[in-house]
Amino acid sequence: MNDLNLKEKQSEFSFKISKKKDSCFPLMRSGTITTPHGDIQTPAFIPVATRATIKGVSPEIMRSIGAQALLANAYHLRLRPGENILDSAGGLGKFMNWNGPTFTDSGGFQVMSLGVGFKKVVAMSVQENSTSGNLLSKKKQQLAFIDQDGVTFKSHLDGSSLRFTPEISLEVQHAIGADIMFAFDELTTLFHTRDYQIESLKTRTHPWSVRSLQAHAELTRKRADKPYQALFAVLQGANFEDLRRQTSQYLSNVEVEGLDFDGFGIGGALEKERLGDIISWCTTELNSAGAEDKPRHLLGISAVSDLFLGVENGVDTFDCVSPAREARNGALYTPSGRINVKNAKYRADFTPVYDQCDCYTCANYTKSYLAHLIKSGEMFGATLATIHNERFILRLVDDIRESIQTGNYQEFKADFFARAE
Ligand SMILES: [Zn+2]
Repeated sequence: MNDLNLKEKQSEFSFKISKKKDSCFPLMRSGTITTPHGDIQTPAFIPVATRATIKGVSPEIMRSIGAQALLANAYHLRLRPGENILDSAGGLGKFMNWNGPTFTDSGGFQVMSLGVGFKKVVAMSVQENSTSGNLLSKKKQQLAFIDQDGVTFKSHLDGSSLRFTPEISLEVQHAIGADIMFAFDELTTLFHTRDYQIESLKTRTHPWSVRSLQAHAELTRKRADKPYQALFAVLQGANFEDLRRQTSQYLSNVEVEGLDFDGFGIGGALEKERLGDIISWCTTELNSAGAEDKPRHLLGISAVSDLFLGVENGVDTFDCVSPAREARNGALYTPSGRINVKNAKYRADFTPVYDQCDCYTCANYTKSYLAHLIKSGEMFGATLATIHNERFILRLVDDIRESIQTGNYQEFKADFFARAE
């Protein structure tokens, strides 16, 4: 086992760029990620199956509406059912009957969402609060405590204490068995000072990323009979151009026993208005460091316009909880924007959510019926609404990908935003 050639094992995962060099958007590209459980055509939208399920929708339906891969949450799966159950089942995909590639995040996001407790990454607004180094959300009790070695969580299920370090995160993620994993990092917020961001990178995110890669190399050796699991480093640095550039250079050059990071997540605190700039600082630097042919994942986008900004600046995959979460509240996507189907004007509207949509929901059900189900708290309403929203985003990203491949991206984008007005 110990003479396993890690570099050779790593080649079970690859990324091939098939189309790039748009005159207007030189960072934009389209390609294919190959994993042991199948390919992902990029750019791709990766629906979020936090607890190994898209609430109310089967993996078979997700596949039929065009999902190529799903992303689950290592922290939640560690709490319940426990990573060993997934390992015994043959990994996340087998466990949930998803016949395709999977992602897991590292648990790092919970450092922020349970620790300092602010909103989802790109939805942050700098106006909201002050500048202290270690702020707490007013609404939540602090459930995560950071030290230089890792993070201690208080379980939100039973209050028991739960430790995450880079080594533990990688052990959990290897046991869960997703094709793409993320290194354990500290997700800072926009409310942390520049000094805190620098300290976080230097004393936590960078060393933790190296330790994640070391643990990954060891576990890959130890579990040599398992399919290769790719590890992405996460680029932090908030809104600071120099920090984003430095971390991109640094993490694209890290190597342990011949293994380097298979790809990169762009994460952390970023101001929505500067999303395009922040992504381009990272991707430009990755290109110049010789990591152009490694996939980039934008962690947790919040709006449809983020997809366009991401693609234009060289992002290959995206995840977002919004389509499902908003669907359950009755907010449904259409080309002219989001409608709330619970609104009185839809009560007797016997047309589909969007007449050009090819989803099961729009083919068979009306806004009136959906409004009734969602207002009554019927499970079927959440299922139908989620199918529509997930299909809407998946199809949009499919169309974006096709337009890049055929060289019509700019026309497609102009059309899309013209319809949105
Ligand atoms: Zn639909």
